[in-house]
Amino acid sequence: MSSKLINRDRLLDRFLKYVRVGTTADPNTNDYPSSRGQWLLGQMLVDQLREMGIEDALQDDHGLVWGTIPATVPGPVPTILFNAHLDTSPEAPGDHCKPQVIECYEGGDIPLLSGDIIREQDTPELAKLLGHTLITTDGKTLLGGDDKAGVAAIMELAHHLMENPHLPHGPVRILFTCDEEIGRGTKFVDMQRADAIAGYTLDGGGSGIIDVETFSADMATVKFTGYNIHPSIGKGRMVNAIRAASKFVAMLPSESLSPETTDGRDGFMHPYVLHGSVAEAMVQLILRDFDTAKLTEYADRLRSIAAEVCKDEPRLSVHLEIVEQYRNMADRLKQFPVAADLAERAFHHIGITPTRASIRGGTDGALMTQKGLPTPNLSVGQYNIHSCKEFASLSEMEIAVKQAVVLVDLWQQFGRS
Ligand SMILES: [Zn+2]
Repeated sequence: MSSKLINRDRLLDRFLKYVRVGTTADPNTNDYPSSRGQWLLGQMLVDQLREMGIEDALQDDHGLVWGTIPATVPGPVPTILFNAHLDTSPEAPGDHCKPQVIECYEGGDIPLLSGDIIREQDTPELAKLLGHTLITTDGKTLLGGDDKAGVAAIMELAHHLMENPHLPHGPVRILFTCDEEIGRGTKFVDMQRADAIAGYTLDGGGSGIIDVETFSADMATVKFTGYNIHPSIGKGRMVNAIRAASKFVAMLPSESLSPETTDGRDGFMHPYVLHGSVAEAMVQLILRDFDTAKLTEYADRLRSIAAEVCKDEPRLSVHLEIVEQYRNMADRLKQFPVAADLAERAFHHIGITPTRASIRGGTDGALMTQKGLPTPNLSVGQYNIHSCKEFASLSEMEIAVKQAVVLVDLWQQFGRS
């Protein structure tokens, strides 16, 4: 086999093996990782990396998998890192996944064994996937292509580079993280161990896409404290925190600045948890915008609405807390443009016109970028994620591996230039 060719059957085998290990993240435990399947899949990957000859492969105390494909060129060449996450979303069942392979998709609706149907009209992306090898589930679970497509692509990249030592590249660090779907993906990532000049998360939909921008994100908790007393003697004494919280939510912008009314580059302030009693009521909101400075404006707006709610009732008190979640990675990626530029060149190199995109959300790459490792996100053929109608394109996973093979070469050229 020519070294240029990616072993497509092996890539498919890997993917099918990995999705069969249930790795649903569990937000209701403090264990790390939050599910046993993530340990099991991680161990399987370490064994496979060792079999390829990657001697430093290991699963650390937190279940994260690390390994390094050694450099094939001499001299100081920068290390780059590839990352994917082992867990799957808790929003759909993930255990006992039964993947189905459609060898050459000819168009039309895709019936699933459960009786459900992936409809062409709900899934406009299908029109671009004619002739692709697609993988679905039986309709009873999600597939977990988010992000086992990324895991399989990185594993195949490693195997391909290990069996083709004549391909030029510097050290390539592999990192598989846990519990990304519940916001804990980078919690235990040791940046010293990463020790790379740039990173790439392989965790995107479609093909030819480089995500270079995420939202900036804060979480706000607004707590109203009232006064509870038996309703029979409540006159002039009771102060109902539930009423205060309801008034607060009603005063939030709803015709604009809400997820229901915004798209593209517009941000929002989104109340997503509300619970309480007469004595105390709490509203939790997420604040999102591509422009980080806007988050301060949103927080100020929350403060003034809260003050307005309390202004005629001195016995009512309110406490507002803002917690930073993640920051738009675009700001830092602009300071180190080579990370996205080389990814773009790698796509051109394999005949694909790349698109730069923004995510209305966050990635682990955003957090790693914030910690000093510029980490754009690359497409790896995921579709309908977090759903039982999820599917993945093997053809696009293969493209992701091809792109990565070129990318590691471009980096060693960059390092030597
Ligand atoms: Zn993901």
